[in-house]
Amino acid sequence: MSEEAPFASTPPAGAPKRAERLTGVKGMNDLLPGDSERWERLEQVVAHWARSYGYRQVRTPIVEHTALFKRGIGEVTDIVEKEMYSFEDALNGEHLTLRPENTAGVVRAAIEHNLLYDGPKRLWYTGPMFRHERPQRGRYRQFHQIGIEALGFEGPDIDAEVIAMCQRLWDDLGLEDIRLELNSIGDPAERRGHREALIAYFEARRDRLDADAQRRLHSNPLRILDTKNPAMQSLVEAAPKLADFLGDASRAHFEGVQALLRAVGIPFRINPRLVRGLDYYNRTVFEWVTDSLGAQGTVCGGGRYDPLVEMLGGRPAPSCGFAIGVERLLELMKASGEPEPAPACDVYVVHQGEAARTVAFTVSEALRSAGLDVVMHAGGGGFKTQFKRADASGAEFAVVIGDDEAVARTATVKALRGADGERGAGRQESVALDALPDYLVDALVATGD
Ligand code: ATP
Ligand code: MG
Repeated sequence: MSEEAPFASTPPAGAPKRAERLTGVKGMNDLLPGDSERWERLEQVVAHWARSYGYRQVRTPIVEHTALFKRGIGEVTDIVEKEMYSFEDALNGEHLTLRPENTAGVVRAAIEHNLLYDGPKRLWYTGPMFRHERPQRGRYRQFHQIGIEALGFEGPDIDAEVIAMCQRLWDDLGLEDIRLELNSIGDPAERRGHREALIAYFEARRDRLDADAQRRLHSNPLRILDTKNPAMQSLVEAAPKLADFLGDASRAHFEGVQALLRAVGIPFRINPRLVRGLDYYNRTVFEWVTDSLGAQGTVCGGGRYDPLVEMLGGRPAPSCGFAIGVERLLELMKASGEPEPAPACDVYVVHQGEAARTVAFTVSEALRSAGLDVVMHAGGGGFKTQFKRADASGAEFAVVIGDDEAVARTATVKALRGADGERGAGRQESVALDALPDYLVDALVATGD
């Protein structure tokens, strides 16, 4: 085979035309090498972090019955009204939905498998979610979340625990520009009092409401406070505050959360307008926001959702949790951190000839059994091409096997990097194949790998 790339970029004359290219679905991203390493690191950090707080992973299906989200998230929410990928199963007519979030699914699974029979549970999940939104930076149609659900815990300590977990994750990832906003949205009866006051307030100013707000005025006036319409900001700013409607228990709970956060030195700002977009929240709600990501600056949102387990048919179990937007978090990591180093292997195996190929294959497997990261050259090409690839692989050593070496049961080991990290010390040594794994393990220890 030639030294050139084996696949020519222009097809020879008379060759059939290439098939038309297909593209991915709008708003759904491919994760490619270069970014996938950062993603992988995040997953490793997260798995360790969740375990360190005693949280165990659950994985629920991506598809659930549509009714779960209608009941769990609420009919009058952005998600259920306009963002869900819902479809009818063509084979049996079931109404199904690609999950837009995972709290409802986790709670469904906890009830279905009776997870709470012997007490509360600390759970976490990660995976893709689907919402039919207008794609833009930080807002996609398939995106990923990492979430925590603490099911069956009543006290403010667990609210503070999940918030402290977030802070620790940002610290573990080296993120600084991210701050906590906190609020209490009280209990249902308190919200009813506030709701009546809100309706009266907005009704008296009906001409200043946009179409969405008018429609929600009686069905869900709280949602109006969540508006992103700049023309309505001052109106919303001056609306009756829920804090003035909280009873003693809600107030004490909220103060308990704040005291614990202060005790571990986690700063926060109380944002009375923070209500969150989902219906199942009560009492504590919070968001972690950053100025480094433009308009989509909320990296994590969560809070307490005491009514949800009962709403989905379980025995009452007060709970709280949060979800982190993985794409936004990764962008923040990218913006604030070191460039992610490309993964490098220990050894690149260069070979030429029929007999050498078999030897190279078995030698590569033997080296992997010895614990080394090995890339065996594949796809032909002369030594020059192969050494270029060996260099690009980041390997510390090339192991070279030609037909002569194959017969002699030896390999030539060539150091690709100098001790100071400079390229090409070029040291070269012939080593018996039997001794090769030990030789390379020692040599890699010597280079400080
Ligand atoms: P927003 O107000 O930005 O629409 P949300 O309240 O709908 O957010 P949640 O349902 O609380 O978001 O989801 C938790 C986190 O998941 C968000 O803070 C965000 O980081 C991320 N997230 C939500 N929707 C998307 C999306 N379409 N694309 C990327 N990330 C998202
Ligand atoms: Mg949203």
